[in-house]
Amino acid sequence: MKNNKMLLAKRPVGEPGDDCFSLVQEDVPELQSGQILIKVIWLSLDPYMRGRMNDVKSYAQPLQIGDVITGESAGVVVASKSSRFQVGDHVTAHMGWQSMIVADDDEPRLMKVDLKNGTLSAHLGVVGMPGRTAFFGLTEVGKPKAGETLVVAAASGAVGSVVGQLAKILGLRAIGIAGGDEKCRYVKEELGFDDCLDYKSGNLAEKLKAACPDGIDIYFENVGGDVTRAVAPLLNKGARVPICGYISNYNDTDITKAETPFHILKTLDDVPEHRFFVVTEWQDRWPEATEKLGAWVNADKIKYRESVGEGLENAPELFRGLLRGRNFGKQLVKIADE
Ligand code: NDP
Repeated sequence: MKNNKMLLAKRPVGEPGDDCFSLVQEDVPELQSGQILIKVIWLSLDPYMRGRMNDVKSYAQPLQIGDVITGESAGVVVASKSSRFQVGDHVTAHMGWQSMIVADDDEPRLMKVDLKNGTLSAHLGVVGMPGRTAFFGLTEVGKPKAGETLVVAAASGAVGSVVGQLAKILGLRAIGIAGGDEKCRYVKEELGFDDCLDYKSGNLAEKLKAACPDGIDIYFENVGGDVTRAVAPLLNKGARVPICGYISNYNDTDITKAETPFHILKTLDDVPEHRFFVVTEWQDRWPEATEKLGAWVNADKIKYRESVGEGLENAPELFRGLLRGRNFGKQLVKIADE
């Protein structure tokens, strides 16, 4: 049996070209006692992967040349020498871009999936890492109160779509920002945000002013750059800004020189409460978040979309598309049939 895996061949400068990736095949090793073999069905593509390709230490160590590209996948156990996992169990594994994964049964990057909370692929999106990011970032760092106004960009995406829908569930006014008419229509009409503004068609500052007559109490930061500059003057005294990410800078040729949301927010007279957070801060509460999100999804109170590509060999192009906004909803790569 063979495992296909994608390695970091070269560090990208700017957008990662095909020469930054190398697809290799190896024999799947024989299982040792306490190990399982996972057939990967879905690979998740996430913006943070771009940061790991740089030789810059952040909250996580950078990848080294020759390492398997970081990533989480979902699949099924096809062989087991463990008493903890049976053949047929569904799992997620944060063990990189590969098609067959051998894992120790006490591997902390491994989680059992309960399909009552959502489909297998949803465990990489709405009830998985991005959904939990939205849940903890909004409730713990954003500290939402009913009646407040929240703004979130990348609003049709994996994290942003959940942030806005949670805000609505909690009684806030939710304004999305997204690229293009189609995404904005979806965010407003399907997801039920109060409004969604197209940042690509110009005049974002004026559109925001009109959509937020009482100012902005929570800005959930996903993108940085021009969007943050347009939002910043409208932040109310006492506003909170959970800094989840700033994707507009990820392909910068030198990210250490980027003008981050921290730089922009610090220039304000009333500096809002803001901090960067990582979803792993609440790792001990992940099952709670997945169950809550799953209940809202099952009750149709949280809706989601997936953008599905096929084949590990196409993952680099799909990843470039994610950083350019070509995805519409959670970006997945189908690796094998369920
Ligand atoms: P999405 O599914 O939202 O996909 C990325 C989207 O970003 C694109 O579709 C695009 O949407 C938007 N985008 C890309 N470039 C720009 C730009 N220059 N300006 C504005 N928007 C842009 O991704 P995720 O939901 O997975 O991630 C959203 C953010 O959350 C990222 O910053 C990511 O790094 C962060 N994150 C942080 C975590 C944490 O623990 N801190 C965990 C998970 C995610 P559009 O077409 O609308 O522009």
